[in-house]
Amino acid sequence: MAWSKDEYGFATRAIHAGYEFDASTGAVMPPLYLTTTFAQKSPGVFQGYDYSRAGNPTRTVYEQCIANLEGAKYGYAFSSGMAAISTIIQMLKSGDHVIAGDDMYGGTFRYFDKVAKNHGIEFTFTDLTNVENFKNSIQSNTALVWLETPTNPTLKLSDIQSISNLAKENNILTAVDNTFMSPYFQNPISLGADLVMHSATKYINGHSDVIGGVVVTSSESLAEKISFLAKSVGAVASPFDSYLAMRSLKTLAVRMEAHQSNGFAVAKFLQEHSKVDKVLYPGLESHPQHELAKKQMKGFGGMITFYLKGDLNNAKKLLESVQVFTLAESLGGVESLIEHPAIMTHASVPSERRKELGINDQLVRLSVGIETQSDLLRDLDQALSSC
Ligand SMILES: *Cc1c(COP(=O)(O)O)cnc(C)c1O
Repeated sequence: MAWSKDEYGFATRAIHAGYEFDASTGAVMPPLYLTTTFAQKSPGVFQGYDYSRAGNPTRTVYEQCIANLEGAKYGYAFSSGMAAISTIIQMLKSGDHVIAGDDMYGGTFRYFDKVAKNHGIEFTFTDLTNVENFKNSIQSNTALVWLETPTNPTLKLSDIQSISNLAKENNILTAVDNTFMSPYFQNPISLGADLVMHSATKYINGHSDVIGGVVVTSSESLAEKISFLAKSVGAVASPFDSYLAMRSLKTLAVRMEAHQSNGFAVAKFLQEHSKVDKVLYPGLESHPQHELAKKQMKGFGGMITFYLKGDLNNAKKLLESVQVFTLAESLGGVESLIEHPAIMTHASVPSERRKELGINDQLVRLSVGIETQSDLLRDLDQALSSC
């Protein structure tokens, strides 16, 4: 009987999808093909691969696995999340208009505002927690809506289904940056999105040792465009990075469960703490979009943002006092990280915009890892008592 991987549960597909045991050796784990080129029998006659920028067998296994996990037909792996984002934007032409959220990963905003704009792409940034704002931003040349949900760092949600329905009626493509939830907790294709991207650097690879990105789609015509651009622009994932990310995918389900259970515990702990003003976590009933979170996500993840009482000095003391958490940028790895968005990850967002979004001196972002829960709580407790 044929092995129909789509019928299996997430954890099974994460381990098996995309790979048939190597025909020549029976290798149970996918080989790492470090070759750049492939022998041809006759000019133009080859066995699926000709040159590793266009395609590499290790990358293919990874791409098929991630597409399967997102419930998409096609997947493409890039050398970074930013390479994935810029490749999507390169599908557009000069004069096209993009509607994007007002809060997003700082590097995405920087690319839109400082690079893509110079190539003639127009942008409207608006609060996409409200579907009306999307409706009111539509122009005759709008080609794409860019959703990041939950947003980085204020964890605001956009209603993927409502926005993608409205986008379809207006011939607008919907692209979703699904980095924060990973395919385990959110599948935007099933909610109507056309394209989904991830910074694979985060939860997908999950061990803070690969920079990578992915794009998936179920549309054949979009897949052709992305595949053509991947090969033509060349920002593809290396075989070794593909191998590491694919290896990590096998444990995505268990890692995400652990991130979430630690995340919940830390969010509740912070909410009760006298030195904390406010906690933002989609799993808390106090989150303004908790109902939407329950509807479109299968879990709430391990990202938490909170406002500390006091000023920048208190925040600095907290960030300098942690011992199990590490003060560093990035997120989604097995280790817990703490950071200060205004000074670190979101420094590239203009200060006026930061003010509007509430990215102030008291704002602290946590990527809760999968260490022993009581160690994380004890560490935050001692760091908070010293600030
Ligand atoms: C990190 C990140 C990116 C950029 O990905 P890189 O792999 O760092 O290039 C894009 N979107 C989000 C939400 C991110 O967290």
